[in-house]
Amino acid sequence: MSIDNAIGRPHIVIVGAGFGGLHVTRRLKRAPVRVTVVDRGTSHLFQPLLYQCATGLLSEGAISSPIRHLLRRQRNADVVLGEAVDVDSDARTLTVDRIDGSTTAITYDHLVIAAGMRTAYHGRDDIAPNAPGMKTLDDALAIRRKIIAAFEMAESLPDAGQRLPWLTFAVAGGGPTGVELAGQIRDLATIALQREFRTIDPAEARVLLLHGGDRVLPSFTPSLSKRAQKTLDKLGVETHLGVHVTDVTADEVETTNKSTHEVIRYPAKTTLWTTGVEAVPFAGVLARALDIEQDHGGRIPVEADLSVRGHPNIWVVGDMSSRDQLPGVAEVAMQGGRHVGGVIADLCEGATERAPFRYHDLGNAAYIARRHAVVESGPLHLSGYVGWLAWGVIHIAFLAGIRNRLGTVVNWGTTLLTDSRRERAITYGDPETARQPYR
Ligand SMILES: Cc1cc2nc3c(=O)[nH]c(=O)nc-3n(C[C@H](O)[C@H](O)[C@H](O)COP(=O)(O)OP(=O)(O)OC[C@H]3O[C@@H](n4cnc5c(N)ncnc54)[C@H](O)[C@@H]3O)c2cc1C
Repeated sequence: MSIDNAIGRPHIVIVGAGFGGLHVTRRLKRAPVRVTVVDRGTSHLFQPLLYQCATGLLSEGAISSPIRHLLRRQRNADVVLGEAVDVDSDARTLTVDRIDGSTTAITYDHLVIAAGMRTAYHGRDDIAPNAPGMKTLDDALAIRRKIIAAFEMAESLPDAGQRLPWLTFAVAGGGPTGVELAGQIRDLATIALQREFRTIDPAEARVLLLHGGDRVLPSFTPSLSKRAQKTLDKLGVETHLGVHVTDVTADEVETTNKSTHEVIRYPAKTTLWTTGVEAVPFAGVLARALDIEQDHGGRIPVEADLSVRGHPNIWVVGDMSSRDQLPGVAEVAMQGGRHVGGVIADLCEGATERAPFRYHDLGNAAYIARRHAVVESGPLHLSGYVGWLAWGVIHIAFLAGIRNRLGTVVNWGTTLLTDSRRERAITYGDPETARQPYR
């Protein structure tokens, strides 16, 4: 089966409805084109709040929005649920595996790839089953299952020695995601779970933040890293700097000191992995099809206008594109998406010039704990309560859809007032994996 561009308007095919893909699509709303958005999932995911879903603060619905719903008023856009698996740049077709098992060849005039990244284990894929990363909704729900089940397991054990590994949570990586996760687990243990257990004191939960660098949040200025570290210390997170996580089993995590090479093993049933990302496999497919070399993270190098060299009608935006060492953050993807959408609209209306992409850095923000966040925007450096308020406003502004924004504000408010976290359901749909959290 093939979807062709018989209706006369240029056909723009977009792979991925994350921040990049969605912003290309929206920018093309009034352009004389037909748009097809291909995604392997049904929802646009707000990854910056995944850790709040993983720790029972927000529901999966609050941080995701159905792609079809988001595009319901964009008459020139259609959505295809399926996985992009191949590209033929001569025939101008994208091959997509669809949900019913069929394969579709979609003909394009312009192809935009915005398929993002996935968790990287730096050649240690063997530890992946014991150290889940956090890139998808499935990851967040699996982590939630692990964390909640660990407290339940500890409650069921009579001996303090046996409980210790269940109540030890190791987080590999001291970037924003690692810091946010570590802080949230301590918040969960010391505030939300208080008075809910009869045998254990959840506040005894040990949270280890294991980081290879010499300070947490290395993408922030040193003074904000310092303030974040102070808050983590106060919260009871144990930070270990200058160490690499060198092994993770179902029962322990091993670190090796980068300078002394000292090896330490901590009994821990829960290890979470936030130390790196690499391009999703489709980037490799694209690189081979277009005969281009990926960068060290598997990203696709792009020209100044974000098109691929030698392929002026193929574009890569967001985390998967490599240009000027731009960071893998939502703002780069959104601005890149709007840029590419604008250039394609102009080209389809007869323009011959292509403007280069210019990124405007709006800054960085990371949540540390309740009433503590750090925000950095140009000369403006905020931390503590003011940083936390600014962080909240920024995240609400960027969530997709009014309903998610209102729901999240209500949820945060209720959590602050009542100290509770209600999104803690864990499910066991698949009998094969039903016991997985207990391993
Ligand atoms: C835990 C976490 C916290 C973060 N926090 C922040 C933050 O605080 N601030 C910030 O600015 N950024 C943050 N980021 C980074 C930000 O989320 C990314 O930079 C942004 O999502 C990149 O957008 P994208 O469109 O390139 O890719 P994504 O948003 O990852 O979207 C990629 C889309 O492509 C789809 N896809 C992938 N492969 C295929 C295929 N073969 N076929 C079809 N569809 C496919 C996926 O389903 C997905 O919908 C965070 C990321 C994570 C994981």
